[in-house]
Amino acid sequence: MRCAEVIAIGDELTSGLRLDTNSQWLSERLGELGVRVLYHATVGDELEANVRVFREAIQRADLVVSTGGLGPTADDLTRPSLAAAAGRDLVQDDHALATIKAMFARRKREMPERNVAQAQFPEGSQVVPNPHGTAPGIDLTLSRDDGTSCRIFALPGVPAEMREMWEATLAPAITQMTGGNQTIRHRRLKCFGIGESDLERMLPDLIRRGRQPSVGITVSQATITLRITARGGSVEECEQQMAPTVKIIRDCLGDLVFGEEDDELQQAVIRLLRQQQKTLAVAEWGSGGLLSQWLSEADERGEHFLGGFVVRGERQSRLLAEPRLLAEHGMHSTHLVKAMADRCREQFATDVGLAISAFPRSDADGSEPGRVAFAVATGQGPGGGETHDSPFAGHPQILKSRAAKQALNLLRKRLMTTG
Ligand code: ATP
Ligand code: MG
Repeated sequence: MRCAEVIAIGDELTSGLRLDTNSQWLSERLGELGVRVLYHATVGDELEANVRVFREAIQRADLVVSTGGLGPTADDLTRPSLAAAAGRDLVQDDHALATIKAMFARRKREMPERNVAQAQFPEGSQVVPNPHGTAPGIDLTLSRDDGTSCRIFALPGVPAEMREMWEATLAPAITQMTGGNQTIRHRRLKCFGIGESDLERMLPDLIRRGRQPSVGITVSQATITLRITARGGSVEECEQQMAPTVKIIRDCLGDLVFGEEDDELQQAVIRLLRQQQKTLAVAEWGSGGLLSQWLSEADERGEHFLGGFVVRGERQSRLLAEPRLLAEHGMHSTHLVKAMADRCREQFATDVGLAISAFPRSDADGSEPGRVAFAVATGQGPGGGETHDSPFAGHPQILKSRAAKQALNLLRKRLMTTG
């Protein structure tokens, strides 16, 4: 099979009213079956436009999966537009009609006349059953002039129905088409504490086109994800292919890697606290409660993250640190933030305290960026912890989450080295 195309249909998608998550889901599933999705098309509810999109897909892809537009209303155009693009008549499928009628009867409702349209199929189609909806899907294979063929599946837009029909009918059918000997598996390694290009430099020759397994790099709010992709005959074969690459990455990057798959820094921190049977409290100024939110999500039962303070101004900071520190060193200082970490640790009677200072004003006047300070308090020995400060610059939308991640990372590294 050369490649596949996913088509999403509906004005609510092209107008921006709704995000097209069906295409994302279908593309992931197709990828897992070893099918390369080369095209995505999104089209509004207009007959001619739909016909054109289907025509193009039939020419350029060997497998087409569409979602949406199978309903009974006047704006549901998938049946007539697919029939027109395929050059086939729409014919009624009596068995499908009986199924739709029975579905209404079970719900103790009369079938409206317009639902008859849902039993119409381009001639030569197979019906894709839809156990929980009225709109059955379409499975149609067309031959092209050059002797090759294109198989088209049309599914409803309702995500739950679409997914159920995928699992029951499309996944087995497509596995059979591909011979079932291609599997794709991914692994994701999550890193924090370094820029994207510096990280790339630490990974000699891994992020290169055509490498097997391939390694891709993406960044989201300062967290870097390395995504490893293997293709093989089985899940086991893919896993075996990926293991050495994972090892190389982990060897090169050391503790820059904090987790895998859906892990976030807060989960890594809670995991370490659990292993070491320690408890944590936080004191936040600039991050305004984000640390507490993340940590409470990662430790739902409240066994390790016991609570925190959020202060929003100089007056409130006196609850956590002596006014003298504020006057002498300022609200962004490591002195003040260390006192905050010590104080929350004491107040919550935890093993560890973690604090984030106030954020400097981010005026875009080109002057030196201000700094933000972090502190871990452990209460052991002189000083009992450590502090760190870093420049505070970047896009306003990510400043808060990046600062919260920097704080978590400082704590993570501390826990890893001191045990
Ligand atoms: P129905 O019988 O419900 O009319 P349909 O096949 O005509 O089924 P649509 O009318 O296109 O499907 O969509 C039904 C609902 O499914 C939409 O209101 C929307 O909530 C959701 N939906 C449709 N397309 C998508 C998509 N691409 N991604 C996410 N959700 C979608
Ligand atoms: Mg509809």
